[in-house]
Amino acid sequence: MALLTSRNIVFAALRKSLKAFLPPFYQEEFKRIYWNAAPLRLYRKITSFGKAHYCPVCQSHVREFLPFGLNSRNALCPVCGTVERHRLVWLFLQRKTNLFALPKKKLLHVAPEFHFSTLFQKSKALNYVSVDLIGAPAMVKADVTALGFPAETFDVIYCSHVLEHIPNDQKAMQELWRVLKKDGWAIIQVPIESKTTFEDPSIVDPKERERLFGHVDHVRIYGADYYERLQKAGFKVAREQLAEQKDRLVAQKLGLIPEEEITVCTKQTS
Ligand SMILES: [Zn+2]
Repeated sequence: MALLTSRNIVFAALRKSLKAFLPPFYQEEFKRIYWNAAPLRLYRKITSFGKAHYCPVCQSHVREFLPFGLNSRNALCPVCGTVERHRLVWLFLQRKTNLFALPKKKLLHVAPEFHFSTLFQKSKALNYVSVDLIGAPAMVKADVTALGFPAETFDVIYCSHVLEHIPNDQKAMQELWRVLKKDGWAIIQVPIESKTTFEDPSIVDPKERERLFGHVDHVRIYGADYYERLQKAGFKVAREQLAEQKDRLVAQKLGLIPEEEITVCTKQTS
């Protein structure tokens, strides 16, 4: 236990220093290498081993998930770096969708998380394209409000925790709808932390944004009307959950948030 506690302190200090001294692109690169490099991952898998928790993304049994952010204590997988929302989406994709089954599907991954990009690229069922405003490590550099792909290019879109950073989120939703094929589906996740959405474009001070929107880069805090925004862009919206979230002990073991939902958007032909 003492070893784990001291490792958590070192880990938190390292994260803080990286944020302070490295530009965002290098922070992402560092995180990608740190979490994905096979020897490091094997070392973490051995030293974190335990029976209390299981991460379905890296398939590791671990003693504990590490703290992450302001409020999450049972959050970060010490082996692969995923947090609650990643594990939920991963389980959902595996159990409730045909994403990893043939025939091959064209997948667009917006602002690709390193946790998933390697796994998506390895799948024989996916023709994978990633896109980000800053370019590498994404494959295509583009703004989510002007993607540049022809209409109806993708069978599936995965876009998680992106829209809360985008001033014109309605335009981004319309663009995601445009590039999705008819009968295609998209998982479009945002943090829902308010009753109704609050945004104010005049708030640009990072500290004020953090205070009001929860993060220095967020431009709004979403409420339950988020789903109406997606519908306005043309999507049919379903709010999904997994059976594992309803069982307190299972949710705790997998490090899932019981109330979290998956927002599944479909582009219907009629
Ligand atoms: Zn993991």
